[in-house]
Amino acid sequence: MAKLTDLNDLFVNLLRDIYYAEKKILKVFPKQAKALGKNSRLAAAFEKHMKETEEQLARLDKVFALINEKPKSKTCEAMDGLVKEAGEVMQNSQNQAVMEAGLLADAQAVKHYEISRYGTLVEWAKMLGYGKAAKLLQDTLKEEKKTDELLNVLSMREINERALHARDSEGKKMMTRRRASW
Ligand code: FE
Ligand code: FE
Repeated sequence: MAKLTDLNDLFVNLLRDIYYAEKKILKVFPKQAKALGKNSRLAAAFEKHMKETEEQLARLDKVFALINEKPKSKTCEAMDGLVKEAGEVMQNSQNQAVMEAGLLADAQAVKHYEISRYGTLVEWAKMLGYGKAAKLLQDTLKEEKKTDELLNVLSMREINERALHARDSEGKKMMTRRRASW
């Protein structure tokens, strides 16, 4: 990792971290959506989120350009860890309902990580006098918060409820059908 000597170094370092994280999301969420299947509302939310993530990456490209840095990634161990946990949920879920509730919780953990990072980036950009960059990062921060809210609504309305009762025969039937299509 590059040496860190001031707030600007921290800012660039964190930009590279979130750049990596967004790219990782772009790779992993479609796989999760596929595992959930076509009838899943969570899968639909994930698909929609991919377009948003592409826009967020484009915004990060602009931020790098604004501060005269080449867009670069730096491994985000936190995002790698969260993705690994979601993989464990996919592997071990015994029915569709429980997988959906588990992946939804993991998606929220991802969102909260992003909200935390973009929040810091906005503050640092302002302090460093990068007004335009701060505005772009703020736009993404707002989107991340909106997505988190959407996931909240999904979890409260139905997904957690279904997982609560998933141990009955219906849950098992759903799983058998899903297994066949994997
Ligand atoms: Fe994002
Ligand atoms: Fe990170």
